[in-house]
Amino acid sequence: MSDVVLLPSVNKFLGRDHGHYIDGGFSAGSPTGKITVVNPADGEAIAQVSEATLGDIDHAVASANAGFKVWSKTSPAARAAVLFKLADLLERNREELAQLETCQSGKIIQISRAFEVDQAAHFLRYYAGWATKITGETITPSLPSFAGERYTAFTLREPVGVVVGIVPWNFSTMIAIWKLASALTTGCSIIIKPSEFTPLTILRIAELATEAGLPPGALNVVTGSGAAGKALIEHAGTNKVSFTGSVPTGIAVGKSAMEAKLTRSTLELGGKNSVGFLRDVDLDKAADGIIEAGFLHSGQICAAAERFFAHRSQIEPIMEKLAQRLATLKIGSPMDESTQFGPVTNKQHQQKLAGFFETARAENSTIVYGGKVIDRPGCYVEPTIILANSASDTLLNEETFGPIATFLPYDTEEELLHLMNDTPYGLSASIWTNDLSKALRLIPEIKAGTVWVNMHTLLDPAVPFGGVKASGIGREFGAAFLEDYTELKSVMIRY
Ligand code: NAD
Repeated sequence: MSDVVLLPSVNKFLGRDHGHYIDGGFSAGSPTGKITVVNPADGEAIAQVSEATLGDIDHAVASANAGFKVWSKTSPAARAAVLFKLADLLERNREELAQLETCQSGKIIQISRAFEVDQAAHFLRYYAGWATKITGETITPSLPSFAGERYTAFTLREPVGVVVGIVPWNFSTMIAIWKLASALTTGCSIIIKPSEFTPLTILRIAELATEAGLPPGALNVVTGSGAAGKALIEHAGTNKVSFTGSVPTGIAVGKSAMEAKLTRSTLELGGKNSVGFLRDVDLDKAADGIIEAGFLHSGQICAAAERFFAHRSQIEPIMEKLAQRLATLKIGSPMDESTQFGPVTNKQHQQKLAGFFETARAENSTIVYGGKVIDRPGCYVEPTIILANSASDTLLNEETFGPIATFLPYDTEEELLHLMNDTPYGLSASIWTNDLSKALRLIPEIKAGTVWVNMHTLLDPAVPFGGVKASGIGREFGAAFLEDYTELKSVMIRY
């Protein structure tokens, strides 16, 4: 098959002189500080965006404070209506948004359509439903009366204020939607700082948000590198940061937030997620499961699995079946609808993955399949299977964020549990078995924010998501997100 033809609207958007999106419209950025956005499928520059100056950041924060005044006083039903309308607009502009996303991230077009647009709209509608369901509680105070007076108390859940949403490059649209939907449904305003690698789609979505009826300043988008994110967090006019990204940056973000002014922070960080195959597992299901767990979007998913533990008697056949499946994956242009495996998102990441292949060789791990950069324009690497020598191999311990499945055999279930938990991270894990009683006994022993059984990677807006240990602080989705975007105010009355 051949590449999908770019819509005229996509070409027109790419050709624009992009500024920041502030106060319901585009605001020209500095003429000198420009960031070039590169298509990872062929290495060609496709657009330029602005690197925010401190002046741009002051402008965005002042606008977000003004936006907050209006939006926080907007009725919950009206807030929900705007978010529902935005979800409709995402779907109406599905192909344009999906193509833009694939151009900037190299994500195969089918994933851009299904996840970055369809799933994002689904999440948005879920959050919109919360706007009308945010409540406090009434409390009977516990102390005895001194002289016959009485007391009553209640709590109010109030929006936290101006949120800074810092977004990584792997799901630049969907993750931005999680953040703006959480903020806007609770009555907060938000400034999104997208990744410098993938800043385009959210700029277009900000326009759609204005079309949906969002008042100026309720959603601003400021483009730039990490320095822009840091300046936003440290600005006296922001109240919370919701960050998704790597562990080292997350630690820096948490520090900046605390040191600035005890700014609230939610940190959704990286992982080194484990899969444990119990002995009763069907080997074909195991191999299919690994494709879902480790190779979707070339493994560039925070919840993707990178450490695979199988019983010593089964590890060879599982790796063999997996290698057979990987050999049939169609590698190619992400704009070709028949492609199943596209490039990784940027040159730096491709080089980092090449470094991991070298490390695996230097440590004498067995490269069972793949293990090389693909010699073609763009940022391609081979889907890879590695058999580690021991639990201390680098590839079993450092997050690669790429299409690399590293295996180690186990002999006993006790050893399996130890191996699955033997990591400083705890974002997600999965166990694969038909023995539900055994699965239910193992689940409490696994140290991860999400444990899947016979599945991996699928996120649902109704199910809380976040990490334990070094994988982060706080939860997105479900009712749990409310804790992070609202402050609880207690009111006590004597009568
Ligand atoms: P990154 O940490 O390099 O960058 C993330 C964002 O932080 C970018 O927008 C970047 O410009 C910004 N940033 C960099 N330095 C900053 C600073 N000092 N202050 C404020 N902002 C700063 O991450 P990445 O490479 O874009 O994304 C990949 C990482 O994200 C992986 O580790 C992955 O596991 C993680 N991730 C986690 C989740 C989750 O929900 N837990 C989801 C997706 C990705």
